[in-house]
Amino acid sequence: MLSRHPRVAENMGVYFITEVGMMIEQFASYFTKLERLSSLELHRSAEKLVLVENTSIAKLIAHLAEMSARKTALKLGYKSLYHYCINGLNLSEGAVPARIHVANVSRRFPQLLVALAESRISLTVAALLAPHLTEENVDDALSDCAGKTRREVEEYVVLFRPKPVFEPSIRKRPAHLAPAGPGRSTPSPSPSTPQPPTVQTTRHSPNILQAARAEIYNFRFSGGREFKDKFERLAEVLGVGNAQKNMAEIIEKALDIALEKKDPKKKLERRIKRQRCAKTKSRSNEFVKKSEPAKSRYVASEVSERVHERGAYQCVFRGLDGTRCTARTALQIDHADPYGIFQNNDESVLRILCASHNLLEAERVYGADFIRRKISERRRGKSKSRSP
Ligand SMILES: [Zn+2]
Repeated sequence: MLSRHPRVAENMGVYFITEVGMMIEQFASYFTKLERLSSLELHRSAEKLVLVENTSIAKLIAHLAEMSARKTALKLGYKSLYHYCINGLNLSEGAVPARIHVANVSRRFPQLLVALAESRISLTVAALLAPHLTEENVDDALSDCAGKTRREVEEYVVLFRPKPVFEPSIRKRPAHLAPAGPGRSTPSPSPSTPQPPTVQTTRHSPNILQAARAEIYNFRFSGGREFKDKFERLAEVLGVGNAQKNMAEIIEKALDIALEKKDPKKKLERRIKRQRCAKTKSRSNEFVKKSEPAKSRYVASEVSERVHERGAYQCVFRGLDGTRCTARTALQIDHADPYGIFQNNDESVLRILCASHNLLEAERVYGADFIRRKISERRRGKSKSRSP
């Protein structure tokens, strides 16, 4: 019998090589098959594979639950089910805890496995819910969390068990963990200073943003000395006493100021207000002239702001099955009728796309090779202009 396990296969030399060769051939022809699929067919096929994968994960979890009840891992010589998963089943360390968390409650709540197998919830979501489930809440929890992301479910489960809220504080990081770089150096620790082990601290560093209770979030991040100095200076400028205690208030004020300045929504509101004032003051057609389409691909900022508003500040790209892109940052103005072909700069043909979809559209219209050439020409131009 041919073994698929490399450890056994080592002793079976030629068979193993033949088998690997066959598998490589199989995958080569599989790629050829995939190349013939349309994008939508490729998506449907991936969806089916996810269903198969999730069903298989649910079944594996059922195995783990059974093994846990029978203490199979111990009987096989492993010190725990966790170690059995890693050393006996070759699962990655990151993959094991979620499976075990779900396994622990899966006999009591088999509906959790069904939801997982049907891809209504992900394994991460199942693991987050597992410790909070009761006979009373299980059905509601599963329907409430269907299709939700990890972040959304983290917010959901704090309703069951609120977390402690952080006391605001500024603490100096241990020197060996401080980010390197100019202006961020910290004095090296004296030999007598006890240092926590680096690996542990890095691996177990908590999420920077976690829901603590309904409507309250814990933030945790590190900043350099410059950041700290700016923060304390801002507290002075804003007239907020006790910077450490009122950290949230200071940061919220800074966010308001930044959004007021940078948010396209706010810019548009300000412009509309200004235009209204100007109209009542004089009947000059200065602003009408400004909105006229330019004779180049240049888009005036007030037009750009209206296009952002029309797109509700989100990339307007829709996929083959109608799914809209969720990107809301670094949006770019794109000509729906390619400017290079139609030379039309009218507001009605403008739309906002994220950088990736803008590039995808440009490649669709002009061809990937052409766009690649243009990008490298532009990069070369920039590096020339930078060199002395
Ligand atoms: Zn997009």
